Amino acid sequence: MKTVSILGATGSIGQNTIDLIKRRPDEFDVVAVTGGHNLEQLAASAVELGAQVAVTCYDEKFADLRELLSGKNVEVKAGEEAVVEAASISVDWTMSAIVGAAGLRPGMASLSNGKTLALANKESLVSAGQAYMGHAKASGATVLPVDSEHSAVFQALIGEDMAALERVIITASGGAFRDWPIEKLKTATLAEASSHPNWDMGQRITIDSASMFNKAMELIETKEFFGVSSEQIETVIHPESLIHALVGFNDGALMAHVGPPDMRHAIGFALNWPDRIELPVERLNLTDIGQLTFRAPDDARYPALAIARDVMEIGGLAGAVFTAAKERALDAFIAGQIGFMDMAPVVSKTLDKMSAQGGLQNAKITLDSILDADKTARIYAGEFATN
Ligand code: NAD
Ligand code: MG
Repeated sequence: MKTVSILGATGSIGQNTIDLIKRRPDEFDVVAVTGGHNLEQLAASAVELGAQVAVTCYDEKFADLRELLSGKNVEVKAGEEAVVEAASISVDWTMSAIVGAAGLRPGMASLSNGKTLALANKESLVSAGQAYMGHAKASGATVLPVDSEHSAVFQALIGEDMAALERVIITASGGAFRDWPIEKLKTATLAEASSHPNWDMGQRITIDSASMFNKAMELIETKEFFGVSSEQIETVIHPESLIHALVGFNDGALMAHVGPPDMRHAIGFALNWPDRIELPVERLNLTDIGQLTFRAPDDARYPALAIARDVMEIGGLAGAVFTAAKERALDAFIAGQIGFMDMAPVVSKTLDKMSAQGGLQNAKITLDSILDADKTARIYAGEFATN
C-alpha cells in the first residue's frame, strides 16, 4: 500500500486526485487531507478515503469541522501551522494542490521527508524554485510535475539526453479572451474571466489563464523545474489544448505530448510513476479532431508574458515578488477594485519598485527572504491596486 496525503484536497486538482485514488482503494492508504472553506467537501472526502487527519487552514473553522467529523474516527485540526504539520507527516506520495503562495511552506515541509511530491502548486516553483529544488535534492525527495505542460515535457524527456535538448515549447489555449478585440479586454468582467474554453479548473487559475498570468508562471516553472534558460523556452497559442508541450532536440526533432484536456492524465501519471497504468480519460480520435492550429501570442493582449521574461532575467527574489503581486492584483480584480487589464501594470510596477530598491537579484535565497519579499510585494501591489 502506498501512503498518500492530499494538500488542497477540496480543490479542482485535489478532487481529481481523489477520483483516481478512490478507483483503487486497495492500493492507497490516505493519511492527511487539507482544505479551506469548504468543510463539507473536506469532511466527506476524509470519511470516504478513511483519512487519519483532516485539516482546514482556517483556525476559526475548527469547531465546525470537528462537528462534521464527530464519531468518524478522523483527527481534526485547523490553522496554517496545522496544514504545515500535516504536510510534514512522512508518507510515500503527497499531492501539493493548495492554490497560491500558501502552498509553499507545506510543500517544503513535505520535501523534508525525502519522499515523492506531486507538484500542482506552480507558485512554489515560481516564488522559490531554487530553494525548492535545492531542498528536494538535499533531502532526496522526488518532485513530479502535475501542471499539464510540465508533465508533458517530463514525459517527452524520458530516456533523452538533456545535453541534446535545444528548446521547450509550452502551449497555451489563449484563455477565455483569445478572440476578443484587444480594446474590449478592459471591460472584461469577473464572470467572463472565470470561464475557460477548454479546461475545468479552480477560479483563480481560470482567470490567470484568461490573462495568461498562468502561462507566465508556467514559463518560470519550466525554467526552474527543468533547469533550462529563458531563451530556450517558447510559447505558442494552440486553441485546441491537445498538445500540452513539445521538446526540441539538436537534431531538429520535436517530441510532442498529445492528450485530452483532463488533469487526471497528469495527476495519474504522477500517482503511478514510474509505471503507466490505465487511466479513465478520453482516448483522442485524430480523424474526428481533423486539425490542430497554432499562432504566436500577442504581447499587447498578454502583457504577463513579457513580465515573466523580465522575472527570469532578474532571477533571485523576482519570482516571489511576481507571484505575490499577481495574487494581490487578482484579489483586487475579484473584489471589483481594478479592471482586467489593470492587473499586469500592478505587477510590473511592484517589480519595478522592488528591483529599484535593489536586492532582488543578489539576495540570499532562503525561505525567510522569500516570505519577506512576498509580504512586501503584497503591500506595494495593494497600494498600486487601490491608488
Ligand atoms: P482550487 O481553488 O480549486 O483549490 C485550491 C485548494 O487550496 C482548496 O483545497 C483550498 O481549500 C486550498 N486553499 C486555498 N487557500 C488556502 C490557504 N491559504 N492555505 C491552505 N489551503 C488553501 O485550485 P486548483 O485549480 O485545484 O489549483 C490548485 C493548484 O494547482 C494551483 O496552484 C494551480 O495553479 C495548480 N494547477 C491547477 C490546475 C487545474 O486544472 N485546476 C492545472 C494545473 C495547475
Ligand atoms: Mg498548466
